[in-house]
Amino acid sequence: MYMTVIFSIAIMVYSIWLMFQASEYYRTGDTGNFYFALIAGIIGLFLAGSSITRLRRSVSYVSSLMKQVSTVVVCDKCGFKVVRAFKVGDYVNKPEEKCKQCGENMYVSSIYAEEPKKKG
Ligand SMILES: [Zn+2]
Repeated sequence: MYMTVIFSIAIMVYSIWLMFQASEYYRTGDTGNFYFALIAGIIGLFLAGSSITRLRRSVSYVSSLMKQVSTVVVCDKCGFKVVRAFKVGDYVNKPEEKCKQCGENMYVSSIYAEEPKKKG
């Protein structure tokens, strides 16, 4: 994940540098290098842009999945139950904070995914 981000940024920086080089080549009348740098720069920017867009999409997909996952926390003693959004690190039988009703330790009883809510 981080490697993809670093790689995309590196390509983007390199592409921008290539574009500057291209304008420099254009000024000096070196059209061969100008076209090469320009095309390479455009391709690089396109690649970096598309991989960043893909990454953003997958991140928002993962976070939307996370919102749909719920964690059920119960108290063994009095049966008090709390349903909250899933947090990274949650697992079944994980000890949770103390029960609001009786002060006993609560634990995660189940983790489940909800169906995506439909509008209308
Ligand atoms: Zn309790």
